Formats: sequence, C-alpha cells, structure tokens
Amino acid sequence: MSGVPGHDGWELVVGLEVHCELKTATKLFCGCPNSFGDEPNTNVCPVCLGLPGSLPVLNQRAVELAMAIGTALHCDIRPSTFHRKNYFYPDMPKDYQISQYDEPINADGWLELPDGARVGIVRAHLEEDTGKTTHAGASGRIHGADYSLVDYNRSGVPLVEIVSAPDLRSPAQARSYAAELRAILVATGASDGKMEEGSMRVDANVSVRRAGSSELGTRCEIKNLNSLRSLAHAVEHEAQRQVEVLESGGVVRQETRHWDEDRGATVTLRSKEEAEDYRYFLEPDLVPVVPDDGWRSAVAEALPPMPAARRRKLGALFGDEPVEPGGARSDQVATVVDLGLDELVEAAVAEGVPAALALARTANEAATDADAARRLPLVSYVALLRMEATGELTATQVKTVLADLLRDGGGDPAELARERGFEALSSEAVAAMVADAIAAHPDEWGRYRSGEDKLTGFFTGAVMKASRGQADGKAVAAELARRRAEP
Ligand code: ZN
Ligand code: MN
Repeated sequence: MSGVPGHDGWELVVGLEVHCELKTATKLFCGCPNSFGDEPNTNVCPVCLGLPGSLPVLNQRAVELAMAIGTALHCDIRPSTFHRKNYFYPDMPKDYQISQYDEPINADGWLELPDGARVGIVRAHLEEDTGKTTHAGASGRIHGADYSLVDYNRSGVPLVEIVSAPDLRSPAQARSYAAELRAILVATGASDGKMEEGSMRVDANVSVRRAGSSELGTRCEIKNLNSLRSLAHAVEHEAQRQVEVLESGGVVRQETRHWDEDRGATVTLRSKEEAEDYRYFLEPDLVPVVPDDGWRSAVAEALPPMPAARRRKLGALFGDEPVEPGGARSDQVATVVDLGLDELVEAAVAEGVPAALALARTANEAATDADAARRLPLVSYVALLRMEATGELTATQVKTVLADLLRDGGGDPAELARERGFEALSSEAVAAMVADAIAAHPDEWGRYRSGEDKLTGFFTGAVMKASRGQADGKAVAAELARRRAEP
C-alpha cells in the first residue's frame, strides 16, 4: 500500500503535525473559559488579548493533560521551557505565540497503528492557540475578502502539538495514523477529537523520492486539513503534483500549501518560514516546568487503557482464532473500540454469547446509535444477544428488538419481543413445519435423503417462508438433520 498512487518507482514520505485543543475549563495562561461556540469576544481578558503589562500564569491541568498525552505516546516527559514565537497576524494580539521550542515537555515516543506498524513521535509540546479570523466574501479566504472579522475567544486556549517522524508511506497510512492519534487523544480525556470543530487540526509534510533512495526530498506543508478524508486526498494529490514537477525536470519548492477541497488540488499559500524567521527567545514571564516523579507516575496511573490495548483485549475473546489485521473482524474490533462499546461485547461473551455474534451485533447494529448503546443497561443487551445465541429469536428479530432497546434506553428484551409478536417458535412447531415441507415435496426429500446436500437450502427456505421468518435457522437445520438420519 506504500508508494505514490499512479506513479510507479516513487516513494511517498509523510510526517504529520497535529494540533489538539485540550479539554480544560480555562485557557492556558489566564482564567477565561475554554469553550467552543460562544458569542465572539466574550471569553477574553487582558492576558489573552495581549494587553501591555498583563502576565501569564500557567494552567496546571493543561500541563497534566499534556503529560497524559506524552505518556500515552510513550514519550519521555522532560523538564521544559516556554519560548516566544514571533510573527505578525491579526488573530494573535501579542504578535507572538507562547510555545515550547528546544525543550518540549514530551519527546521521543511512538504510536502503534492498528496494522502493527510503529510511527515515531518526535515531540508533543504545549502552546497557546490563536484567535480565529473569518474572511467575509465569496471564497472565505483572505484573497478577495470584503472584510475580515476576528474572534479572540480561542486566543490562549491550550494546545498540544504532536509532531510525527516522517515515517508514513501512503495516504492510507497517514489517515490511519491520524485516526489512531485521535482515538488516543479521546481515550486520555485530553481532547474531544472533533476535527469539524477544530479541536484537532492536521498539517501534513509531504515529499517524494525515487523508490529505494534513503534521502528526503524537498517537502511541502499542507495546512489545516479538517477531516480524515481531506487528509488522505490532499496527501495523494500533493504527492502526484510533486512527482509530475520532478518528472518534467522541475524542482519542488519548499512552501506552505492549502488544500482546495472543491478543486481537488493543493495551492501555494506562502513560502515556508524557517525557525530563524520566528526569532524565538525564552519567555521571560514564565519559569521552567519540571514535573517530579510523583506527578509523572500519578498521571501514568490515572491513564485508562489505550485503544491498541483494548483492541488486543477484544481480539483475545476469540481465543485461538486470531483476528487478522485488515480483515472484516479487525474492522469490527476497531469500530467497537473507536465508539467505546467494548463493554457490551465483553459482557455478552462473559455470559456465554459467541464472540463473533457479540462483536457483529455491537459493531454493526449497536454502533448505529453509539451514544444510546453506551447508556444501555448491559443486562438488557446481554439478555437479547443470548436469545439469538440460543435460537429463541432470529437475527432479524434481534436487530428489530435492539433498535427498540436503543430507542427506549433499555427494557426487557423478552417483553419487547412479545410486543412485536416475535413469539419464539416451540420445537414442536418447527418440527411440524419441517414435516409439512417434507410432505409437500416428496421428490426433493427423496433426493435430499440420498445425499443431495444442496437441497438443505430449499427445505430451510420453505420452512422460513411458512413461518414468515420467525423460525430459527439453526433449529430448522437441526430438525432437518434429525429427520434425514431417521431410518
Ligand atoms: Zn483571558
Ligand atoms: Mn504549533
């Protein structure tokens, strides 16, 4: 799956920079509320407006969440300092951003993708967010805007910027990394991971090189990809653009580009800044952050199991029938973990429901309303799946009752099944229907008895039709087998 789609002989090299807004009550250096969607410029004060004489005070909870992210990404948590990153833009009232530069709080970690590949994490540092500029005009971009509006509610919101090593080799892998990182950020409780609200923003550094080369080509940075889909598309198109430039004898210029979703192409935004353009210097108003061992281990102990560990735990329910990476079952496991529905599967299996059935119902049906499913009493869910496992209800009936349970927020599945008229067919009733089917089709029965196995479906279908779908397929099969074995 690696390479540049449509261009043999080239290799794609991608590293991602992800900005994640931390779910703190207040901003990074002041007591203003950190909340999304409020009336513009209402959550502001002299500190986050950058007024002269105001002083920053570091938010302890933000440091703690940054440490949680670092721990989950297997980073070293280090003594760190803050720097001023100087540049001019109207959404940044101080004309500098307080960020971490050569001494980030987290460094040298890794993240494991669902397929088992490891991606290096160079650093995950703390910094403040900027305000938000809205360009009013047809394009929504600064060029051609009639006027621009700025909202400082976001100014000073705590961010962790997570920088991966250039270890990703395909658009699909870049997407998989971003999805896994988002799941980890949500699991740590540090972020809600909402790309559509900007709580997680992805920049992609993309370069290409001849297959087999170990040198890095000139990279371009694509800014602010706001969905996993855009990320994969933008990486693919940018790689193809670079290959075409190089194959026609040109050179790739290092620059920052913007992904134009409508045109399906990246376009130049500005030539790339180097670190020296920002004139970094130590922030004189903040002291170094030196988390002691006690604090670090308290953060580590409070961390819940991460998605990779939870996927392994669900996989273990299948015993010696391993969950193949990339297969349908591994997709189901990933869906269940992603939606936080692990407990439903585990509880059902603990009560004797086959793992494949518990996983399928959870990943396919419960997942259609994950919020409701997470609130469902486990006892209702388990009781329903047991009715399918024992053949009391058919799969179709179970899906219907499950939809009722999700809608009502719980209930007695047996009761709901009765209300729906899903009376379990007694074994006598099934036997009688099988007998009727045999009597109605003596020729076929004779052929079936003399070994024509493909007629199983014919008889099962006849009984299903007669029972209007209420007979359990397994019970019908068992009765057919019993009758066939009779002398
Ligand atoms: Zn403030
Ligand atoms: Mn940043």
